[in-house]
Amino acid sequence: MQHDLAIIGSGFGGSIAALIAKQMGMKPVLIEKGSHPRFAIGESSTPQASISLANIADTYNLPRLEPLTRYGLWKETYPELNCGPKRGFTYIHHPNIEHELLVAASPDGYDCDSQWYRADTDAFLVDEVKQAGIDYFDNVDVKLEEREGWHLSSENFSCSANFLIDATGGANPLGIPQDISMLQTNSRVIYSHFEGVTPWGELHGKPQHPYPCHDAALHHVFSGGWMYVLHFDNGITSAGFVLDCNARPNDTWETLMDELPYINEQFKNAKSTMPLVTTSRVQRRSTEIAGDNWAMLPSAAAFLDPLHSAGNAHTLSGIERLMPILSEPPKQRANLLRQYERTTFHELELLDKLIHGCYKCFEDFDLFSQFAMLYFSGADFTERQRRAGKNTSFLNSGDTAFCEMVEGLYARVIDPTILANTIGMGIRGAIEPWNLVGLCDPTKQNMYDYA
Ligand SMILES: Cc1cc2nc3c(=O)[nH]c(=O)nc-3n(C[C@H](O)[C@H](O)[C@H](O)COP(=O)(O)OP(=O)(O)OC[C@H]3O[C@@H](n4cnc5c(N)ncnc54)[C@H](O)[C@@H]3O)c2cc1C
Repeated sequence: MQHDLAIIGSGFGGSIAALIAKQMGMKPVLIEKGSHPRFAIGESSTPQASISLANIADTYNLPRLEPLTRYGLWKETYPELNCGPKRGFTYIHHPNIEHELLVAASPDGYDCDSQWYRADTDAFLVDEVKQAGIDYFDNVDVKLEEREGWHLSSENFSCSANFLIDATGGANPLGIPQDISMLQTNSRVIYSHFEGVTPWGELHGKPQHPYPCHDAALHHVFSGGWMYVLHFDNGITSAGFVLDCNARPNDTWETLMDELPYINEQFKNAKSTMPLVTTSRVQRRSTEIAGDNWAMLPSAAAFLDPLHSAGNAHTLSGIERLMPILSEPPKQRANLLRQYERTTFHELELLDKLIHGCYKCFEDFDLFSQFAMLYFSGADFTERQRRAGKNTSFLNSGDTAFCEMVEGLYARVIDPTILANTIGMGIRGAIEPWNLVGLCDPTKQNMYDYA
């Protein structure tokens, strides 16, 4: 079998890339080591992810993807695909849970983002791939050889392709050397899926919350780490402790539940539906992201940390940048692939500072609430630019002034000789050019309604 494009890995990234390739007139093949439905992590969507997905649906005439961009439309169109509502980003500080930050990311409970129940979402997308007549092979552990193009083979399977996309989410089938020495974020995760987790709002909801506080990516923030809690409509909750490897090298699920009584209360009746997964340090970064005839999706090339749910948006924006390059003549294509690599590295560098800076503020919630606004100003500014039809970059990373601003504040936040309140006071002024919605406004008291 001869194909224009072989895509390795059928998470949402690989399947969407395959659907686009077909619409571009290519002959793609999608190859999966496992099979669907299967568990996958990476569930909380964001406005940036939804905008990218809507743009992909529109640009490549893939209307069946459009309903996945809005929770209400998703439920109406595909009621059999499990998901959950995500109105915004909720941060609760422990042990003093009166310290809260809520940032609405959507106007209402219909036009909002979703928690993707990945077993269903990814299986749906693979079905779309099959329906589109794209060659799809699962349970294939493929061997890759480059000889005048790519030769892919396994026991009962072989095919050739001119170009290869690694969409394996980090399995690294090309064997590209990895190097995380330049990454500052240093965290590990203890996670699972649960039944019986009490929605936070039932325990600690407040009238001033701009949306039901648990219809969100709920972040419990504490010294040396944080926990994400994401609810699906089927009664399953995805939750995980994400821990600074230096500050909390030995904590377990049990020790954290003993230490954090309000989280313990929320999980009092919880039962995990699969064994707890305990990772070592989760950061990874490939030293190369693209060559003349291959490329990795951002999620295959690197992973930082789930804080602020940036992963899926990054993957989708990478797909938006990568796929048009594949229709260019070889010489231009090679140059554009180098650019794709440089841009992806640059985005990771920015994200690393935005995330690691937050880790440095976990003990001081006032400072955390200010520093997190660097992420929100970049994300919100980009979303608005895109909605206005302007070409812009992931998290505003193409804006040099924005990146310099982040770099400057990050350098201050990691400098132990600088007083926290002097940093916090400067953030409102620093983000002003990109702050279109009143972030850091003290009168809002950390309750940001959708603007
Ligand atoms: C703990 C944790 C929490 C996260 N939370 C969030 C979040 O809330 N929001 C968010 O946006 N992002 C989150 N992420 C990031 C998110 O997981 C990724 O961005 C996302 O899964 C990428 O999707 P993908 O389709 O590229 O890869 P994956 O979902 O990893 O899919 C890769 C596929 O490739 C297959 N595969 C692997 N090796 C091979 C091989 N050799 N041959 C063929 N197939 C292969 C696998 O079986 C799998 O089906 C989180 C990550 C972690 C670790």
